[in-house]
Amino acid sequence: NTDSEQCIFDSIPDDDVIDSNLVNENLDKLCTTCVVSKDIIEVSSVSSTTENISGSNVESYLNTISTIFESYPNDPALIPTSNISDEQFSFINSLGPCQPLQSSLPGKQFPKRMQGERLRSFHDEHYFKKLQYGSLVKRMWMSYSPSVDKVYCIACKLFGTSTAKKNPLAKDGINDWKHISRRILCHETSSDHLQAVLRKSMYNSNQRVDVGLILESSNAYVAENREVVKIIFETIIYLARQNIPFRGHDESLTSLNKGNFLEMLKLLSKHHALLSCHLRKIEDSKNHNRLTFLSNVSQNTMICILGELIHSKILKSVKSAQVFSIMIDTTTDISNLEQFSLVLRFVNDQGMVEERLVALKIATDSTGKG
Ligand SMILES: [Zn+2]
Repeated sequence: NTDSEQCIFDSIPDDDVIDSNLVNENLDKLCTTCVVSKDIIEVSSVSSTTENISGSNVESYLNTISTIFESYPNDPALIPTSNISDEQFSFINSLGPCQPLQSSLPGKQFPKRMQGERLRSFHDEHYFKKLQYGSLVKRMWMSYSPSVDKVYCIACKLFGTSTAKKNPLAKDGINDWKHISRRILCHETSSDHLQAVLRKSMYNSNQRVDVGLILESSNAYVAENREVVKIIFETIIYLARQNIPFRGHDESLTSLNKGNFLEMLKLLSKHHALLSCHLRKIEDSKNHNRLTFLSNVSQNTMICILGELIHSKILKSVKSAQVFSIMIDTTTDISNLEQFSLVLRFVNDQGMVEERLVALKIATDSTGKG
């Protein structure tokens, strides 16, 4: 039944499937960066004024804008795009993303728009990315603008290359709520965005890099780091392909065997001057907060990025094949948990049959109903 199969894919990126109660509890605890005052102006009325400004409305519009600015100084739609000084840039960056919660808005909801056959709106669940096993990670790049009811990527807006800055999410924001999940997913796995995030984290963590330098795309420091990250990614791909463990029992500086990942980089550094220099700097550095790209957190982040890229590539070929079948099976593993595997089978562009494993989850219910 291709209809129901297609539905599975349409439902992945579509918003309507998101359980709004799922993350609300965590939202209150985690959303601390946005500035929200109690007397927030009527958001829905603002979005309509922005679309229709004329004559006598100008003054009230300006008043509304200034009220918004007081309530949300980090509103991404109000960030000037050119002629900003280093100090202004640093200030805007320090404000962080604007992530007002639904519960803090008037009427306790985001403005609704007619899209497709129904009213749709932004959801504050999008501020968080759901990882495997249900843990949530805040999307520090995502910034919602209450003044225009659109969502922006402030990483690309502030730190993106000239190509990244042309992306709709960085330039004018988007409010295509029907496909917002898909667009978020595509954006956060794009190389332009990842580069911008990397620049942002380098800017935030390394005080030695000044604003002027970081904005220069030909900056040698950025180019060096990019080269180092590339080798680290290649090492991760190699270890993952060979199916061998990354970590060592003792990864301290004095350890004689730091595990496959670090030892592999040490070996590669013998033939790569930049990597060797990067590793030496880490060894010499007394600052434990420096960005090394080698920590277990960095490793996991990179593995997730690679996983998402592979996932999106598989989905792309499945979509272009149009017709596909699904194979689902469960099996009990050594710890007595039901492992649920989902395999897609389709015919690729070359006319060859392909089978791709797309998910391996723990099944909570092993009955036919589950
Ligand atoms: Zn971005």
